[in-house]
Amino acid sequence: MPLVSERHFPRTLHAWMERFTQPQWHGCSVQGWLFEGPAARRAAERDLARAGVQATLRSAYKPLLHYFLEEVDITALHTVCIHWPQAALGPANRFLLEAWPLAALPLPEPPQFIPRTDSHHHYDVELHWNNGTRSRTCIFAPNRQHANVLGKPTLSPTGWLRAGTVQAGTDLLDTQATTDVEQAFAHALHTVCQHPWPEHEPYFERLLLRLDLPHLELPIPWLENTHSSLPEALHEDLYFSLLEWFQQRSGRAHGDRRLQPGQIVPDIRALDNSANTLHLHIDQQSFDAAHEDAQTAPAWHAATDHQPLDTLESPPPPECIRQHLGSFGGQAFTATTRQGRPVWGRYHSGKDAPVFLSAGQHANETSGIVGALRAAGQLLAAPETHLALLPLENPDGYALHHALCRQHPQHMHHAARYSALGDDIEYRATPPLYEREARQTALKISQAQLHINLHGYPAHEWTRPFSGYIPPGFADWMLPKGHFLIMCYRPGWQHAARTLLENICASLHHRVPELAAFNASQQHLYLAHAGQQPFEMLHGIACVQYEERGDTPVTLITEFPDETLQGAAYRFAHTVQMHTVLAAYTAWQRIFPTLHHGH
Ligand SMILES: [Zn+2]
Repeated sequence: MPLVSERHFPRTLHAWMERFTQPQWHGCSVQGWLFEGPAARRAAERDLARAGVQATLRSAYKPLLHYFLEEVDITALHTVCIHWPQAALGPANRFLLEAWPLAALPLPEPPQFIPRTDSHHHYDVELHWNNGTRSRTCIFAPNRQHANVLGKPTLSPTGWLRAGTVQAGTDLLDTQATTDVEQAFAHALHTVCQHPWPEHEPYFERLLLRLDLPHLELPIPWLENTHSSLPEALHEDLYFSLLEWFQQRSGRAHGDRRLQPGQIVPDIRALDNSANTLHLHIDQQSFDAAHEDAQTAPAWHAATDHQPLDTLESPPPPECIRQHLGSFGGQAFTATTRQGRPVWGRYHSGKDAPVFLSAGQHANETSGIVGALRAAGQLLAAPETHLALLPLENPDGYALHHALCRQHPQHMHHAARYSALGDDIEYRATPPLYEREARQTALKISQAQLHINLHGYPAHEWTRPFSGYIPPGFADWMLPKGHFLIMCYRPGWQHAARTLLENICASLHHRVPELAAFNASQQHLYLAHAGQQPFEMLHGIACVQYEERGDTPVTLITEFPDETLQGAAYRFAHTVQMHTVLAAYTAWQRIFPTLHHGH
């Protein structure tokens, strides 16, 4: 039996309105925390005031950030000192991370963050005003302890209600409140987890979780594209929670990327602000790639056709990638995806040391795709270039990413990261190999010893608010920290890999002069909110290196914070990717010949 489920959830804001406009609350003070945007909360406060109730309704999601956005005149502020609590469950710095991106508040003196020793769910905020006065305030951050999808104890933001007979009083009410969004989230997980799924993977082709809820986006006026809105966070939390649950059910270790449940697609949509209910629809669907591609192609081509690669401000359609590959000459090779889309590869033989260049393994990391094409275009102008190229390893994920971006172009859409089988192509080891076959071919025909594998990561905060806030397993990637390089090497190749890494960083410093300032500004914010910097810096670029049995003896993985970027920021992203490839290819030609005897 395919899973189909439909459910409406009464809107908590409206339920509270109905409750507190009853005569017995007349003259009382009510404070509520829930997952609603400021406009809806302000309107409800006005309606409650008309009923004689003095109400303050606050955001349960990132309450400290919302306090500064909604209640503080930051133009009158000189600086601020935030005393944050230790988290009793999960990483201790969770509340410092959750304060993101307040370190970027545009104040005459930078904000200070001071850890407290207790774990009480509030921030103590000292405000130093431009007129010399000071004030203190306590910002409540309501949280509840609960079991996550794997049954582990977790501390997550939640709704809360306080009411009293005096202003800000709690003598009548001081209690946790499970709000509409939390109910819908829990119900979605419960519905999927109790379904009798088949014994063997994949369990479904596509599992769609459509959630319609009132509009909750709130741009930050002083820092663009920096924090994760609640609809985006819901997509992330639904997707990863279900992936974790299917992972556990399959008996695999946490973080094993070979799980093939099928394609999990959360689709979060905004309802009109007057909506009375949230609507959850869960549905199993069959793949129909040809139909879906035919629907999206015209608008996608209209937006990007006839633009030179270096001017692209959003990811190009697959057909554009195919045309560029065609113009490169050389030998074509292909594979076919789970949904039947082609994976296009090119091999160009020359007297150089061979290099394998790939992008789009994780299809929501799109700057590498353009960066790879731009770099290949330059490299292949030289006859001696020896290159195997796969600019888009995951066309099924890429199609889903584009479809999701039509709804929310500024969301990171991790549901499009892996393949339509739900696994990470790189780790696929058993037939049918589908996309992975293209990589096998590239490795075999080129005999490359270096693989340049272009990736990206979120350009703004990545959160899981209903599962402990910090994305489990990805804590290091939840905040941008500039262009990041990962160098992997097999035993015996450490020195070559290190030399390559140092050469690339030195070269990038000259090739992209703006990169240093870009990295420094992201790293400054990262450090302020993560509290530590667990990576090496080379010429202003964050790096890590480790031994691993990769597809080639040396693998360079680039990580540009590109997820959600558009416009000039996207152009900068693929420009940095291109220069990283050019720097790596060039340096490898110097390094590889000197190694030849030893290997
Ligand atoms: Zn990636």
